[in-house]
Amino acid sequence: MAVCSVCFRHCDIPEGRLGFCGARTCADGKVTAANYGRVTSLALDPIEKKPLARFRPGSLILSAGSYGCNLRCPFCQNYGISWSDEAFGYAETAGYVPPEDLAGMALSCRDRGNIGLAFTYNEPLIGYEYIRDTAKLVHGQGMVNVLVTNGTADLSVLKEIAPYIDAMNIDLKGFTDHYYMDVLGGDRAMTMAFIEEAVRCCHVELTTLIVPGENDSEDEIRSMTEWIAGLKDADGNTCGRNIPLHISRFFPRFNMTDRDATDVRLIYRLADTAREKLKYVYTGNC
Ligand code: SF4
Repeated sequence: MAVCSVCFRHCDIPEGRLGFCGARTCADGKVTAANYGRVTSLALDPIEKKPLARFRPGSLILSAGSYGCNLRCPFCQNYGISWSDEAFGYAETAGYVPPEDLAGMALSCRDRGNIGLAFTYNEPLIGYEYIRDTAKLVHGQGMVNVLVTNGTADLSVLKEIAPYIDAMNIDLKGFTDHYYMDVLGGDRAMTMAFIEEAVRCCHVELTTLIVPGENDSEDEIRSMTEWIAGLKDADGNTCGRNIPLHISRFFPRFNMTDRDATDVRLIYRLADTAREKLKYVYTGNC
């Protein structure tokens, strides 16, 4: 039995069993990543698809995912690898790709325009050891690393990987504790602390999915962007106004099919609200 300290859930994991995310286990009394090197998805994507709008625009990045997630967003678009029965089935079936092999694949795609490796699709931080080991090799090849994350992890996890990560897209899914806790199964305070620290380490962009009836008020976007605008860089200078924010449109999926897709006009209106505080606001899925 051991306690996992990666996220706010602090799962007490019995020997040989899995934590809530389905990706971490207890072996010989120590917590380890059961999904280490278990790659379920691999694609050479445009960097804009991460989404990153202001980091190496126009380039491609080899994007890899594993399985498992520490949140329970009912509308997850990637439920097949995040938190469905199918996702947890990958514990048995996903192939093992050692860090050297994945870094080697990134290098072999370089002549097709690849700039490095993105850790994405499921929640990468629940298997941060693989990110650390692989990203180090990718840097050694003179390429970059990108992380696409829900930002729900302890700062000690960020510290482990930060030296090797060049850019992140972090979800800031809403700006109320109720939404984070009761709808997403998350922890807003942990996510905000992660974002605060990440902007001191590398290029950061944020994403907010607007779900009708949940996080779609102008007041909420106003409080959120006010907080973002006040974030500080490593020198203590306020830099938040320059952090890009992607405001995207929800579509009914997975366990949330009781409402329509977000009205495009609402997305544009909330983007305008965000622009009162932030310089770079992008709309997604419109
Ligand atoms: S990372 Fe997974 S095992 Fe660790 S505390 Fe979070 S949900 Fe539990």
